[in-house]
Amino acid sequence: MAKTAGATKMAYYFGKTKTEGKSTQKQLLGGKGANLADMTSIGLPVPPGFTITTEVCGLYYQHKQKLPPGLMDEVRKNVGILEKETGKKFGDSKSPLLVSVRSGAAASMPGMMNTILNLGLNDEAVVGLANATQNERFAYDSYRRLINMFGDVVSGVDHEHFEVAFDKIKAKYKAKLDNEVPLEGMIELCEAYKDIYKKHFGKPFPQDPLEQLEASIEAVFKSWMQPRAVKYRQVENITGLMGTAVNVQSMVFGNMGDDCGTGVAFTRNPSTGENKFYGEFLVNAQGEDVVAGIRTPLPVAEMPKWNKAIHKALLEIKDLLEKHYKDVQDIEFTIERGVLFMLQTRNGKRTGAAAVKIACDMVKEKLIDEKTAVQRIPAGDLTQLLLPSFTPAAKAAAKKDGKLLTVGLPASPGAAVGKLAFTAAEAVERTHAGEKVLLVRKETNPEDIDGMHLAAGILTSTGGMTSHAAVVARGWGRCCVAGAGEVQIDEKGRKIKVGGKTFTHNDVLSIDGSTGEVMVGEIATQEPKLSGDFATVMGWADKYRTLKVRTNADTPADAKRAREFGAEGIGLCRTEHMFFEGDRIVAMRAMILADNLEDRKKALKNLLPLQRKDFVGLFTAMKGLPVTIRLLDPPLHEFLPHDAKAQGELAKELNVSPAFVKNRVAQLHEQNPMLGHRGCRLAVTYPEILETQVTAIVEAAIACVEKKIDAQVEIMIPLVGTAAELKMLRDQTQAVIDAVKEAKKFTGKLNILIGTMIEIPRAALTADQIGEQADFFSFGTNDLTQMTFGFSRDDINTFLPDYINNELLAQDPFQSLDVTGVGQLVEMGVTKGRSVKKGLKCGICGEHGGDPASIKFCHTVGLDYVSCSPFRVPIARLAAAQAALATAK
Ligand code: ADP
Ligand code: MG
Ligand code: MG
Repeated sequence: MAKTAGATKMAYYFGKTKTEGKSTQKQLLGGKGANLADMTSIGLPVPPGFTITTEVCGLYYQHKQKLPPGLMDEVRKNVGILEKETGKKFGDSKSPLLVSVRSGAAASMPGMMNTILNLGLNDEAVVGLANATQNERFAYDSYRRLINMFGDVVSGVDHEHFEVAFDKIKAKYKAKLDNEVPLEGMIELCEAYKDIYKKHFGKPFPQDPLEQLEASIEAVFKSWMQPRAVKYRQVENITGLMGTAVNVQSMVFGNMGDDCGTGVAFTRNPSTGENKFYGEFLVNAQGEDVVAGIRTPLPVAEMPKWNKAIHKALLEIKDLLEKHYKDVQDIEFTIERGVLFMLQTRNGKRTGAAAVKIACDMVKEKLIDEKTAVQRIPAGDLTQLLLPSFTPAAKAAAKKDGKLLTVGLPASPGAAVGKLAFTAAEAVERTHAGEKVLLVRKETNPEDIDGMHLAAGILTSTGGMTSHAAVVARGWGRCCVAGAGEVQIDEKGRKIKVGGKTFTHNDVLSIDGSTGEVMVGEIATQEPKLSGDFATVMGWADKYRTLKVRTNADTPADAKRAREFGAEGIGLCRTEHMFFEGDRIVAMRAMILADNLEDRKKALKNLLPLQRKDFVGLFTAMKGLPVTIRLLDPPLHEFLPHDAKAQGELAKELNVSPAFVKNRVAQLHEQNPMLGHRGCRLAVTYPEILETQVTAIVEAAIACVEKKIDAQVEIMIPLVGTAAELKMLRDQTQAVIDAVKEAKKFTGKLNILIGTMIEIPRAALTADQIGEQADFFSFGTNDLTQMTFGFSRDDINTFLPDYINNELLAQDPFQSLDVTGVGQLVEMGVTKGRSVKKGLKCGICGEHGGDPASIKFCHTVGLDYVSCSPFRVPIARLAAAQAALATAK
């Protein structure tokens, strides 16, 4: 949809004169721009300005990175309105207009481009600013900040050069801190900075404010495609945006004296959800100083001591914003000479725990209703509530042993244990190598995100609760302790020093993101429970969902855990997992290696009682709920040892020659085992395997019924591609059921269904024929995806990253169901199956069963249930409710 530049409105003004944007225009104005307009509209004190649309950013890239024609005319027009409204003029020697230039896309991408403040200053305007404010030092301080920021962000002059010059001036005036440099020093510094700028950029620092503005706008657009922004969108799965907007806003100053200040706050605690105004502020400071962690800010609760009226005004604004947006807000504010200004508001990022509490509280406060509450909690974020915490006993013992090193800020809850990694790259590398690491940094920045993403936890020594590390970690539910000031980090030496002790990259620490505690060694963790607000939310979810949620479980313990999390049955029990335990594998291997029927039957006889016991355990744990048992699925080769040594040991155990083992293993080798002798094909070749498994199942079911345990059994035949296959195996299964009943003289009622997995494209295509033979369908979307794409799921690592990087695929189809392609087969399977059997029970048992987007699809095509790993069950329940509510509208 290429638009011609002339036809597009490129800038939207906000201020007293007029406000053109609306809160609903986030796509066009970015989140920051839309809300600046919105806050202006509801009468909040917002410094006026205008927003250049995200469309213009799109045009910029269409025009081979040139600002589209007509843009600067619109910019000049808006600057004109701004000058009139503020009574100030760009570059004026009496009362100069200064602006900030801020990026802001529809989705929040914290810190992707540094904001440029004080734009509009030049050699003349700086005198004007000094006169207007009666504060010469402040004026030159502002000017040197602009040259530095503009030089760094717009013209690519390394910040280091400016630092060196600053240190020289500080030395000259014997100043330790920036703010001890006197006026003369600041004037000299501005000259030095201009020289540095010219030397490294090749041209002098632009004196024309409009030229500064044009270059800054372009820099914002450029920042959209810089590698770290691209990477951030990738990690966060942000797609489909036009670009970033640019906000040009008149400056207010928090750094003009002790009646000034700046701060950031959340209307409620974003970490716990507690309904308490939560934030930090710094007296006599400018915007970024709080986030950058230059000085340690004060909590807003201390503000009344400094300025009671401002604190009161802020609390009023907080209430007003929550009533208006009906959600937690994350705000930025600045106080200029005792007057409060709002600079930003957006929905506050919060932890999963906070999301749950806030949703429940807001329902109680009648701000939102249950349905909104259910829809507001990102289902995937519940993972955080299902994360382990340190066992109180283990932690108490560790503390008694003097293992507590220090306490930082509880920036993002959870418990993390790991060795120390000192750079993001190191964290990435060591995690991939299978280690658990904590990323230890002075403070993180956007370039660290991949390391932060992979690390088990994050520990920083500076920075507050709203520092980069804290905000990003909370967004991901990564455990983070921030601002642990006693931790001295030696990045080069790969060690830290705390309380006189030194720890290297090989030492293990435990950090508690809920308390800020940093401890030596590995402390035991525990699984969470479903209670309180979490249980309330689950109750609401159950009220609105229609999809059932089952679990994939192979052991009674997993089944029990899943049941506690609300699972309504087992959707997939992979019987092969049972064979790896203890000495069962020996019996299994004996069965596989048997080269004649008799030996195989003998081995199977040994396996039968073990399987029966497993099934009794499962049916008991899930009594009253359906349990789907899949018959043996993987290629037999997978169960065998492959190196000579292990083969030799096996030969000894089975009392056969090593050569025999070696030959059988070689015989069983397949070129493409995933497409080879596996699934129902095993049962076709070795009916005795099916016979043994079904016998174990039926005997277990009978044993349960006799103990008055309600066993609801679903026998599932995997990898079926034709109706004939299923018919034959179904008949065999039924025959075994009858035979066992007969042998046991059992005359009671057994609940046993015989169904199949739909995981081969041909099965979906012929689901009407297959449906005639099946009591139920379960979509095995792992294999279905593998076979539909022709992507070997064990080998995708070699090429899938390139597919994602080149946007050939929006996401990994094994994580989130490919609705467009694989989804068609699922839909076809359901429709065709139900065309021959009305109401045929259909579910999904692939990994996708726990993915919120895939669950939405499952709801839409009318599946009866999804099945996922135990700890994703609550996520699936919530996602199912969200799907139902979203489609009910
Ligand atoms: P980010 O997206 O990284 O938060 P912002 O654009 O919000 O960047 O700006 C960075 C800092 O500069 C913030 O603290 C903000 O409050 C401050 N700031 C931005 N514009 C102005 C302005 N017009 N006057 C005063 N401070 C500003
Ligand atoms: Mg920004
Ligand atoms: Mg901001």
